[in-house]
Amino acid sequence: LDPSGEGFSHEEYDIERALRPLSFDDFTGQEQVIENLEIFVQAANGRGEALDHTLFHGPPGLGKTTLANILANELGVNIKVTSGPVLDKPGDLAGLLTNLEERDVLFIDEIHRLSPIVEEYLYSAMEDFKIDIMIESGPNARTVQITLNPFTLIGATTRSGLLTAPMRARFGISSRLQYYNTELLTTIVQRSAEILNVPIHMEAAIEIAGRSRGTPRIANALLRRVRDFAQIKGNGTIDIEIARFSLKALNVDAHGLDEMDNKILATIIDKFKGGPVGITTLATAVSESAETIEEVYEPFLIQQGFIVRTPRGREVTEAAYTHLNRVKGPIQGG
Ligand code: ADP
Repeated sequence: LDPSGEGFSHEEYDIERALRPLSFDDFTGQEQVIENLEIFVQAANGRGEALDHTLFHGPPGLGKTTLANILANELGVNIKVTSGPVLDKPGDLAGLLTNLEERDVLFIDEIHRLSPIVEEYLYSAMEDFKIDIMIESGPNARTVQITLNPFTLIGATTRSGLLTAPMRARFGISSRLQYYNTELLTTIVQRSAEILNVPIHMEAAIEIAGRSRGTPRIANALLRRVRDFAQIKGNGTIDIEIARFSLKALNVDAHGLDEMDNKILATIIDKFKGGPVGITTLATAVSESAETIEEVYEPFLIQQGFIVRTPRGREVTEAAYTHLNRVKGPIQGG
């Protein structure tokens, strides 16, 4: 249930692909983002031009990669996929860029992790569709400028705060994806169940949706595990009993919070008397980077009403005490 999607087996990866929506119509939620993108795509298609470079940011598993693929489909072009950490030499990037056909999409996941030298190289490609390439070596070495086909760069990042200002400025379109509410996730679970060909009761779909940390990738992962329980322990249909039974066996938190979410809440309560505590201090206490807490964990905890941000730092709410079964009051012990 790793929301980053790393650590999936090949089979799970294939299933994830099968569950991925392919068109705007298939995509549930993020209504404002989709409405705008539909207009930009129609306009670009009408003019026969490449779509402006587009940046998607937001926590893992909310649909950034899915949307990049949908955009390519809706533009009727090819998509090449790579990621920041993989592109470590300008030469690799040059290879990708020179192979793009007119209006194609180049998708760079984790774009905040590009090396500065590759990033700089990307600037002129994005801005005027030109790159310098070094040919030959030794005394004959020289650079030639190559004109690229107009293309669309789609970047995805969970850590928009880590993106450099010049990089950010080169995206004409920038959309932040939000966590999904239970209703939207229920629709996604039902759609996925249909694709996986497993009967599911409404109540069970709602139960799974409510425990998915606002994240479609987690909802789909839970559905697949519950499907296993239904097949082995039940009669193949996912009803509310089998859903509850499986989620309990899987140790899924009632709100879908993961280990780090709970660790953050418990730490603020146990070590900092419920807060307020500064983000850097908190980060050290839970051994996670401040940026990751701010961009991956905190938004969900705030949205769910477990944490509030105050001028003096983060504070947990009553709901966090209740959730963790802690009693609020003077710190015990010495
Ligand atoms: P990200 O790139 O933001 O980490 P992905 O695009 O890889 O997230 O989405 C993870 C999985 O969740 C996808 O395989 C897809 O099946 C599912 N998913 C994401 N968003 C939606 C959505 N709006 N509707 C249906 N399924 C979705």
